Amino acid sequence: FDEITKVDPEIAAAMTDEITRQNVNLELIASENIASKAVMAAMGSPLTNKYAEGYPGKRYYGGCQYVDVVEELARERAKKLFGAEYANVQPHSGAQANMAVFFAIMEPGDTYMGMSLDHGGHLTHGSPVNMSGKYFNCVPYGVNSDGRIDYDEVLAKAKECKPKLIIAGASAYARAIDFKRFREIADEVGAILMVDMAHIAGLVAAGKHMSPVPYAHVTTTTTHKTLRGPRGGLILCSEEFNAKYNFNKAIFPGIQGGPLMHVIAGKAVCFKEALSQEYKDYMGRVVENASTLAGALIDRGFDIVSGGTDNHLMLVDLRRLDISGKEVEKLLDEVHITVNKNTVPDDPRSPFVTSGIRVGTPAVTTRGAVKEDMFTIADAFKAAIIDKDNAAAEAYVKSITDKYPLYGGTAMA
Ligand code: PLP
Repeated sequence: FDEITKVDPEIAAAMTDEITRQNVNLELIASENIASKAVMAAMGSPLTNKYAEGYPGKRYYGGCQYVDVVEELARERAKKLFGAEYANVQPHSGAQANMAVFFAIMEPGDTYMGMSLDHGGHLTHGSPVNMSGKYFNCVPYGVNSDGRIDYDEVLAKAKECKPKLIIAGASAYARAIDFKRFREIADEVGAILMVDMAHIAGLVAAGKHMSPVPYAHVTTTTTHKTLRGPRGGLILCSEEFNAKYNFNKAIFPGIQGGPLMHVIAGKAVCFKEALSQEYKDYMGRVVENASTLAGALIDRGFDIVSGGTDNHLMLVDLRRLDISGKEVEKLLDEVHITVNKNTVPDDPRSPFVTSGIRVGTPAVTTRGAVKEDMFTIADAFKAAIIDKDNAAAEAYVKSITDKYPLYGGTAMA
């Protein structure tokens, strides 16, 4: 950090402010986490200097013998962690992992199915503003009035539209996803099943959610959400399926150039951490904290879509309180709680306003928060949103952030 201060004080100042923000705020954005210092050290290393187009043993540049070791370790650990035969650790992001699978399997104009964005799916699963919706024909599916995926409806739609591919996976869905059922649906209509487990990858790694790997033809994920690694993507499948579609070629030279070897080193470190008992225990606490927080919010007068959660996140439905997600995001920001506004199923408000917020426990649990702390967080929500008592809300938040400082009080700034 001293180096940055010396070379570029403006960036150093903004970074210091951001680290302070992370320390004094309660981070409840469900897709965020706090990477370990070892993961960050890998990302801030001279590995960023290396060009390594290609794959270990088959590069287009000299001097790759050591980055080959790094990428090989990352691939082997990813395979072990998720019980997969093939892993590609080069996708720069989750969006790129998904794009590579589309590129390998489909032709422009092909029909596929994905969960619609306003029912909890991701932008890259067919939104009209994304490549996945512009270049391909997406037939969306959603949740029923209970806020749960209606598998019979998915099957009926699949029979009708005969998709080449079906995507299971979501960004704002609090219930367990039955990947076995999805595979049965895919088999019944002759479709390929792709699972995007970006949000729940950490739960899968720790055995807290059904693994998609035995059921999906191909699985994609990010590495920075519940998995707690560097920002990036990953593709997993069987040797046989990869032999047919060649995902290595789809990533490079298909949609990317040189891999980010410093990030791949960070992924390797993250996978090693995720293989530990300590990480499994952590994921257990993430899930316990989420269900405790959902229950505590319900007790304090909030509605939760589907009535609770099976994973690390929940969707708070604000319609009955007659306040928008946008307003609540701002109200919570004022008392140092960070969440994101989110549509609820069949939201009457626009995606920029919304009638809900998405709340997740991965980051606050990494800081150290346990079950009892979830009641304090729920008290803070009630104080800020229902009682409009900012001083009380801020005091609740401070009691948690003071108890669990970022990186145990040893953040870099
Ligand atoms: N897939 C899902 C289910 C996601 O929730 C996200 C990110 O929120 C992505 C893919 C995209 O990941 P990235 O932001 O790394 O492109």
